[in-house]
Amino acid sequence: MMKTVIIGAGAMGSLFGGLLSLSGQEVWLVDVWKEHVNAICSKGLAIEEKGTTRTISVKATTDVRSIGKADFVLYFVKTYNTEKAVSDSLALEKEDTLFLTLQNGLGNEEMICQKIDRKKVILGITGQGATLLGPGSIRHAGWGKTYVGELDGKMTDRTNQIVQMFCKAGIETDASSHIHDLVWEKLFVNVGINALAAILGLKNGQLLDHPETLRLLETLVSEAVEVARKKGVRIEANPVERVKAVIEATRENRCSMGQDLDRKQRTEIDAINGAVVREADRLGIPVPYNQMITDLIKVIEKSFEFWR
Ligand code: NAD
Repeated sequence: MMKTVIIGAGAMGSLFGGLLSLSGQEVWLVDVWKEHVNAICSKGLAIEEKGTTRTISVKATTDVRSIGKADFVLYFVKTYNTEKAVSDSLALEKEDTLFLTLQNGLGNEEMICQKIDRKKVILGITGQGATLLGPGSIRHAGWGKTYVGELDGKMTDRTNQIVQMFCKAGIETDASSHIHDLVWEKLFVNVGINALAAILGLKNGQLLDHPETLRLLETLVSEAVEVARKKGVRIEANPVERVKAVIEATRENRCSMGQDLDRKQRTEIDAINGAVVREADRLGIPVPYNQMITDLIKVIEKSFEFWR
């Protein structure tokens, strides 16, 4: 059994924490949102799934220092909070603590490894999906596969242990010897969909309905693919077609960045199109479409309250 602490118990953190706890794992949820933590402590965590709601008993706190040391730390904050979450999580560290991120976008690994020895860090992606309904309450909305892998690509006992722990909790997971490639593959999808659908107020599927949005998404993804190629990422045959297939399969979905803009909240643009721009700059490759869409989102964000 691994004493598991989840930093950022929003939609995804609560989902993983709830399912792991239900499978018998010792889990602590940590969140800065007091109302949510109080609701979980007093009434349990409610997970709605295909119309039925389960209430799960799981430990939750706003004070990471009250937990003691952990065997396993999982980050599920939004990417713009990763740095703070990593600093907070240092209180949990012992010699053999493992730190995993399943957050979206690019840059989480670098941020974590600035404060934690990279030998202790594991990277992953997840196709699971969840939405926050209110304090103490989430909806489980997606069941895609989860992958975890060592930064150096080795297949190890500790990643297998995580795979087994997740699978036992009903979270279908595999270990991967090329996790960076998978992170980029997921990034291509977010690069093509999120900012574009967000700005235009569209559901995913509507991006395929106009020649203009098709052209824009193809160019956004192609720019990211070129950057990835130059970085030595192994790329499957046709990433643009794959992104389109994902869009088709999630036709009715309003993407997370769209939901953020709708609620006038900060987006993860810096870890998505903004990260493509950053990587391209380092390589001296022009990525004008990604630059432009990043700039547009940044200006929209400036009108929101969260800065004040
Ligand atoms: P969320 O906003 O629902 O949850 C994030 C939580 O982190 C919030 O409750 C917030 O209060 C908390 N938080 C912020 N700073 C903190 C800190 N320092 N310590 C502790 N808690 C802190 O976000 P989410 O939808 O669960 O997404 C989390 C990550 O997972 C993102 O990178 C997202 O892109 C990725 N992701 C989400 C989904 C999804 O379906 N929601 C799917 C795959 C990946």
